[in-house]
Amino acid sequence: MDALKSANPLANYRRITIKIGSALLVDAAGKLRAHWLAGLAQDIAALKAEGREIVIVSSGAIALGRSLLGLNALALTLEQSQAAASAGQIALSQAWSEALGQHGIVTGQILITPNITEERRYYLNARTTIQTLLGLGAVPIINENDSVATAEIRYGDNDRLSARVATMIEADLLVLLSDIDGLYTAPPARDPNATHLPLVESITPAIEAMAGGAASHLSRGGMTTKVEAGKIATQAGTAMIIARGTEEHPLAHLVAGGLHTLFKPSTTRAQSRKRWIMGTLAVAGTVQVDPGAARALAQGKSLLPIGVTRITGDFERGDTIAVLNPDGREIARGLVGLDSEDARLVMGKRSDTIVELLGMDSRAELVHRDNLVLTGSTDTTQRQEAHHEPG
Ligand code: GLU
Repeated sequence: MDALKSANPLANYRRITIKIGSALLVDAAGKLRAHWLAGLAQDIAALKAEGREIVIVSSGAIALGRSLLGLNALALTLEQSQAAASAGQIALSQAWSEALGQHGIVTGQILITPNITEERRYYLNARTTIQTLLGLGAVPIINENDSVATAEIRYGDNDRLSARVATMIEADLLVLLSDIDGLYTAPPARDPNATHLPLVESITPAIEAMAGGAASHLSRGGMTTKVEAGKIATQAGTAMIIARGTEEHPLAHLVAGGLHTLFKPSTTRAQSRKRWIMGTLAVAGTVQVDPGAARALAQGKSLLPIGVTRITGDFERGDTIAVLNPDGREIARGLVGLDSEDARLVMGKRSDTIVELLGMDSRAELVHRDNLVLTGSTDTTQRQEAHHEPG
C-alpha cells in the first residue's frame, strides 16, 4: 500500500478517527494530563490544517470522575462507575474543548450506545450529525454513554466502539493511540524474542493468537480488543494503525514515521457498503422504473425520480428498497435517498422540479449510484454484479 512507501503513515488518509485511551489522558492519581493533551491538540490542529477531517473517540470519563467524586475503591461497583462516568464526562469534554479551542477549533460531544451504531434509524442520524460537524470544521469528540449504558448493552471498551464509529462515518483510517507501539509476535515485556509487526495484511487466526495468547497481565485484553477493532475496521474498508501515544506529541511522532502497526483494509469501502445492501433480508419497499431508467441503472447511473413509474411500501430515507424493471422483475437494490412520501411526490418528475417540490437541499437522485447494487436480469447487470461482489 502507498502508505508504507511514504515516511508519513497518515499521508494517504483524509478522514481519520483517533481513539485515545484513558491511561494517556489521565495519570495514576486521576488528574488530567493537561500538558500532554495540549501537545496532542497541536498535532490535531496541524492535521486539520492539511485538510484532514478528524474525529476523536476519547476515553477517560470514568478515570476522571473517580477522582472528582473521591471514589478510591480499587474496583468500582456498576453504580459507582456510572456515576463516575457522569461526573467525569463533563470534565473530559471541557478539557477537549479548551485544548482544541486554543487552536480555534470547535468541538462537539456525541455519546454513543451500541443501539446507535447498530440500529439504522439512529445510525443515520448520528452519522449525519458527525458529518455536519466535520463539514463545519469542528472536531466531534465521542465516548460511550457509560452513565446510562447497561452492562448487557455496552461496548465497554473504546477500541471496538471507535472501530464502529470509524466504519459508520466511512473513515479512511482508524488510529488507536495506546501504551504500546503496535502488535508484536508475543508480549514484548515477557518474551525477549518478540518482534514488532509493521504491517498486518489480514487478520488471520495466527494474528489473533498473537494478540490474545499472552498470559494474564494488564495489556492482554487490551491487544485482544484492538485486534477485534481491526477486524471491524478492515472488513468495512477502513485501515487501522496502532501506535504508542504516551509521549508528548504522539501524532507528530507518528507523522514523522514513528513505529506502528498498519492493518490493511480487506476490501474497499464501496464493496463493503454494497455487500451490506445485499445483506438486507427484507426490503422496505419497491420502485418500478421505465425501460430508459432500467438501461441507465445497468450502465452504472443513479436512479432519478423521472424514471420511476410505481412505488410500493412505506420506507424511510436510508432504507433498502428493491428496484423493479417494467416487467416487475428485481434488477437492483439500493439505499433510498427519500422517504416514501416524498418519493411519491416526485416520481415521474424532472430533477430540476424536485428542489421546488421538496425544498432547497433535496437530492436529485432517488438512489445514488454509490448506494446501488445491480442484482441481475440482463447480461450486463450480471457482469457488473460479479464485478461488485468478488468471491
Ligand atoms: N468509556 C470509558 C471512559 O470514558 C473508557 C472505556 C475504554 O477505555 O475502553 O471512561
